[in-house]
Amino acid sequence: MQRVLITGAAGFLGSHLCDRFVKEGFHVIGMDNLITGDLKNIEHLFKLENFEFYHHDVTKFVHVPGELDYILHFASPASPIDYLKIPIQTLKVGSLGTHNLLGLAKEKNARILIASTSEVYGDPLVHPQTEDYYGNVNTIGPRGVYDEAKRFQESITMAYHTYHGLETRIVRIFNTYGPRMRLNDGRVVPAFIGQSLRGEDLTVFGDGSQTRSFCYVDDLIEGIYRLLFSDYANPVNIGNPNEITIRDFAEEIIKLTGTDQKIIYKPLPVNDPLQRQPDITKAKEIINWEPVIDRTEGMKKTLEYFKSLSKEELHKSEHRDFKKNKD
Ligand code: UDP
Repeated sequence: MQRVLITGAAGFLGSHLCDRFVKEGFHVIGMDNLITGDLKNIEHLFKLENFEFYHHDVTKFVHVPGELDYILHFASPASPIDYLKIPIQTLKVGSLGTHNLLGLAKEKNARILIASTSEVYGDPLVHPQTEDYYGNVNTIGPRGVYDEAKRFQESITMAYHTYHGLETRIVRIFNTYGPRMRLNDGRVVPAFIGQSLRGEDLTVFGDGSQTRSFCYVDDLIEGIYRLLFSDYANPVNIGNPNEITIRDFAEEIIKLTGTDQKIIYKPLPVNDPLQRQPDITKAKEIINWEPVIDRTEGMKKTLEYFKSLSKEELHKSEHRDFKKNKD
C-alpha cells in the first residue's frame, strides 16, 4: 500500500484530499496543528485502518516513521482575515513548514506536491493569469505574509528540485469553494451563504466590480490528483475560468437561497485584487484537466452543506480567536 502524508488534513482542501487518497487505496497520514483546521472534517476517517492522524505543527521538525511515497503540503491559513490575525504563523508554515517537508521528502525519497496560489500573481496586471506572469505583490501589505510565503515556497521547492533532484509538483490554486469551508473564515462564499441563511444583508466590499473565478472543490481535487501523477515540475494553474463580479455573485446567492436580502456595501480591503481568472491552457495540455462542475451545480451542493450545519454553528458568527497562540 502506498503511503501519503497530507498536511493541513483537517482543513477544507486537506480533508477532501484525505477522502480522495483513502478512496484510491492509499495509506493516508493526515497532519494538522488545528489552528484553522477542524477535526470534524475528517472524523469519519478515524475508524479506517488506512488512515492515521498526527496533531503536529509542520513549522517544527516533522517526523513520520516508516516509508512515504508522496507528500502533499496543504497546511496554511487561506483567508485574508486569518492572515491578519495570524500573520507570523502564515509566514512560517509557507516557509519553515515547506522547508521541513522538503527535507522529509528528500529523506524518504518521496514526491512532494505543494499548494501554491493565485495570490502569487498579487493584484494582477495580466489578465487572465498565465503561469509565466511574475505577479504584482505588495510585500508589506496585509496579504504580503501569505503571498510572499507562497512565493518563497515555490522558490525553495524548485531549488530542491534542481539542486537535489527531488520530485516536486506545484499547483497554483485559484478561488475554490465547497462543503467544509469554515463558515466564519471571512471568505466570500461562506460569508454570503452564512448571511443569507441567517437572514442578514450581504456585505459586498468596494463597489463589487472586482472579479473572481470560482472552482468547485471536486474539480480542484481531480486536478491536483492528476498533477501529482504527471511528470511536470513547473507550476500549473488549477481553477475555473468562469469569471464573475462579486456584485453579480451576491445576486446569484440571493436567488439561489430564495431569500430577499439586500446588498450592502462596505470598504474594499487593502490590496484586494481587482480581477482574477486562471488561464488553464497548461492544465488542459499537461494533465488533460478542465473543470466539469458549473457554479449553479457547485453552489447548490455547497448550500446543502451549510444548511446541514446546526443553528448554533450558523449563528456563531464571531471570528475564531487565535490569541492563545504564541508562535
Ligand atoms: N468579499 C465581499 N464580501 C465579503 C467577503 C469578501 O465582497 O463578505 C469580496 C472580497 O473583497 C474579494 C472577494 O469577495 O474581492 C473574494 O474574497 P475572498 O476573501 O473570498 O478571497 P480572495 O480575495 O482571496 O480572492
